[in-house]
Amino acid sequence: MVHQSHPARLLIIGPQGSGKGTQGVRIAEAFDIPAISTGDVFRAAVAGGTELGLQVKSVIEAGELVSDELTSAVVRSRLDHADAQDGFLLDGYPRNLAQVRDLDEFLSGRGETLDAVIELRVPRDESISRLSLRAQQQGRTDDTEEVIANRLAIYERETAPILGVYRTRGIVDEIDGVGTLDEVTQRIVAALEARGLNRSAAA
Ligand code: ADP
Repeated sequence: MVHQSHPARLLIIGPQGSGKGTQGVRIAEAFDIPAISTGDVFRAAVAGGTELGLQVKSVIEAGELVSDELTSAVVRSRLDHADAQDGFLLDGYPRNLAQVRDLDEFLSGRGETLDAVIELRVPRDESISRLSLRAQQQGRTDDTEEVIANRLAIYERETAPILGVYRTRGIVDEIDGVGTLDEVTQRIVAALEARGLNRSAAA
């Protein structure tokens, strides 16, 4: 039986269309930790017509970012659940430097730090063509051409710089996101194992 040296606290980052949502779920399963996607939380709130949903609907549909205050509050309350006490994988948060600070503050209050940041790298052309395909298949309201361009521009401007912060901490693993789903998952698992993070025995 394999014992984790300590629970894995992970973050996955990548441009829209990089497959980070799909890989995030796979990695969370392998490491037996919850995958926490802010995009999924917001979309579920919109679909359920909750108060949070009403607050974020128009922002999401325009491809803009929800306010840091609201987003950080949503993540903090999710990380307070029992299932996130023994590790977690964050997808879509933090997304800018202010959110990095919010998360640092929250985790240090728990005596925790992130173990690894998975950076999924996909060329821009590839990510645009994957998003157009997803738009045809799933009809996500924020997958129109104009909104996609806006989201990619925000990614490059705000999200890419946070990798710089995590790089100085030595916790970023750059992963080539081009390949089959299994190939990419394997690459991520190998990088995490090289850090001494072990998959759960059950997976
Ligand atoms: P994508 O990364 O493909 O844009 P997500 O599912 O991660 O998709 O996010 C969808 C939308 O949810 C974003 O365009 C944004 O409006 C909102 N959102 C998600 N995460 C955050 C965040 N950390 N801060 C602010 N807004 C967010």
